Amino acid sequence: MSDQRTAQLAANLETLEKRLTAACTSAGRRLEELTLIAVTKTFPLDDVAALADLGVREFGENRDAEAKAKAAGRPDLHWHFVGRLQRNKCRSVASYASVVHSVDRVEVAQALQQGAEHAGRLIDVMVQVSLDGDSARGGAQPADVAAVAEACAAASRLRLSGVMALAPLDVSPDPAFARLAEIAAGVRANHPEAASISAGMSGDLEAAIRNGATHLRVGTALLGHRTPKPG
Ligand SMILES: *Cc1c(COP(=O)(O)O)cnc(C)c1O
Repeated sequence: MSDQRTAQLAANLETLEKRLTAACTSAGRRLEELTLIAVTKTFPLDDVAALADLGVREFGENRDAEAKAKAAGRPDLHWHFVGRLQRNKCRSVASYASVVHSVDRVEVAQALQQGAEHAGRLIDVMVQVSLDGDSARGGAQPADVAAVAEACAAASRLRLSGVMALAPLDVSPDPAFARLAEIAAGVRANHPEAASISAGMSGDLEAAIRNGATHLRVGTALLGHRTPKPG
C-alpha cells in the first residue's frame, strides 16, 4: 500500500465528510442519521484496509465473486451487497453479507432466506425499487414493492430494514428520490421497523439527503474513477 494512495483516500474521505455535513445542514438533518457505505467494487482489498484504518466499517460490493473474496479477507467489516441479485447467487451472498440492498422479487427473498438458514445467519434486507422502469438496472416496480416487502418480513432469517433505489439516469434525481420517500413511507405503514432508505451515490447524494436517505452508497467520490471493464 503506497503512502500516496493512503493519503489520497484520507483526503477523499475528508472531502466527502464535509459534503455530507453540508448536505445535512441544508436539509436540517443530523449527520448521525446517515450510514456511509464505501462501494469498493473493482478496487483492491488494500483500499478496503486503508479505509478501515480511517474508521470506515461499512463496505459495499455489487458482484458476488468479488464481494465474497473481499469479505473473506476482512470478515471483521460489514459487507453490503448492492448489485443485481439472481436466485442462484443467494446462498453465496447470504454467507457473508450483513445487508442486502437489492431484493427485488419474492423468489429472491425466499432464496436469501434459505441461504441465511443454511449459514445460520440473520440478514438485513432492503427492497430495491425501480424508479425508471428500466429492468436492466433491477428493482421491483412500485406496484410490486408491498409483496416483496411482505415476503422479506415473513422470512425468519431476514429483517426487513427499508427500501433502496438508483436514481434514473440523465434526469434530476430530486423527483425520483421524493417518490422513493413516498414508497418508503408506504412500506413503513405496514412494517414500522423498515426505516432505512438506501439512496444517493457520488453524484446525487445531496438530493438523496434532502429526500430522507439514511444509507449512502459512495464509490467514485471516495475511491476515484473505476477502470471500465474490457469488452
Ligand atoms: C457502483 C455503485 C454505487 C456507487 O456509485 P458511485 O457513483 O461510484 O458513487 C452505488 N450503488 C450501486 C448499486 C452501485 O453499483
